[in-house]
Amino acid sequence: MATVATLTRQIADLELNTKQAPQSDVAKLLTKFAAPQTKPSSSKAFASSIDIGQYDGGLEIENEERGQVVAGDAAEELALDSSTSGPNPTREWSLHSFDMGRPLGKGKFGRVYMVRTKAEPKYILALKTLYKSELIAEDIQRQTRREIEIQQNLRHPNILRLYGYFHDEKRIFLMLEFAGKGEMYKQLSKVGRFSERRSARYIDQMTNALIYLHSKHVIHRDIKPENLLLGLNGELKMGDFGWSVHAPGMRRKTLCGTLDYLPPEMVEGKEHDERVDYWALGVLTYEFVVGSAPFEAQGTKATYGRIRSVDLKFPATISAEAKDLITRLLQYDPKKRLPLTQVLNHPWVVKYRPRRDVVEA
Ligand code: ATP
Ligand code: MG
Repeated sequence: MATVATLTRQIADLELNTKQAPQSDVAKLLTKFAAPQTKPSSSKAFASSIDIGQYDGGLEIENEERGQVVAGDAAEELALDSSTSGPNPTREWSLHSFDMGRPLGKGKFGRVYMVRTKAEPKYILALKTLYKSELIAEDIQRQTRREIEIQQNLRHPNILRLYGYFHDEKRIFLMLEFAGKGEMYKQLSKVGRFSERRSARYIDQMTNALIYLHSKHVIHRDIKPENLLLGLNGELKMGDFGWSVHAPGMRRKTLCGTLDYLPPEMVEGKEHDERVDYWALGVLTYEFVVGSAPFEAQGTKATYGRIRSVDLKFPATISAEAKDLITRLLQYDPKKRLPLTQVLNHPWVVKYRPRRDVVEA
């Protein structure tokens, strides 16, 4: 019987080899994989044997009660279909293309389900719904469109893939890579803080994803554990592409908005560039090893104050190497922050990197 591990290996074979294959070949392969042809495949038994769980009918029930049919320019803007847009059009998808499985979660704009494509190679995905009228009510239809188009063109093992998208009268459906181990934030809450080994490995993966993003001139701007998912092998997957700016998780909404990860230049309303992500990487490293963000304070003003004065304090348990990396990233002056390529070579990151991933200096 096929196992989750076999499935992961097959996906990984396609996704992890960006170094060996030119980008265009990988992209082609993935597009093909995400858009299976009708030709029979020898892997028939394997993907259909993975249990996707019981569907609860939630999409239909919700669709009766929620959202409205939209019209006009905004509706035009949200008529999103990956089979007719972008440089790598996919095959045509619709709700009928999938066997529905268990609910994975509820997002701000709709539900997320585990699904499997009916067509070979019976690919397992997370299908996320967004109610168009709710996007319009928040006036984020243009931004949503842009973000979906950006995410579909990104291919990196630590960035959640968006394989395709389609829409009906009321909803947009996103075909997302299935993050088998769920949310980073939940894992962190469960254990309080991560070991330095585990943290360093996540930071290594996160840094690689950011280097890739920045090479595509994309700044993430919203790094935090709530926006990170975990793959079947526990690997970090940057998800929630820019969405969360508009849909912050409950935790920070109740505390102090999304301030914890903001760099001084954004707090002060100055111009900013990709080095905002260097700062946020420092905050993330701190949160992983300490269990809370470094500049948390009662209220917006106090948090602002701590960020602007880089009021950084470490518990005694943190190693000197981890402190060194965090301190080098959390610099007030963006020019003084440690560049991402040097993060990959920092002793703390190198020390815990599994041998097969060794990066040449
Ligand atoms: P929120 O504002 O609550 O974060 P959201 O609009 O950002 O909601 P998501 O966080 O993307 O929505 O999705 C809601 C939940 O569904 C997630 O918390 C996660 O548990 C689950 N989920 C989303 N995408 C995936 C995925 N690709 N693989 C596995 N689970 C997922
Ligand atoms: Mg979310």
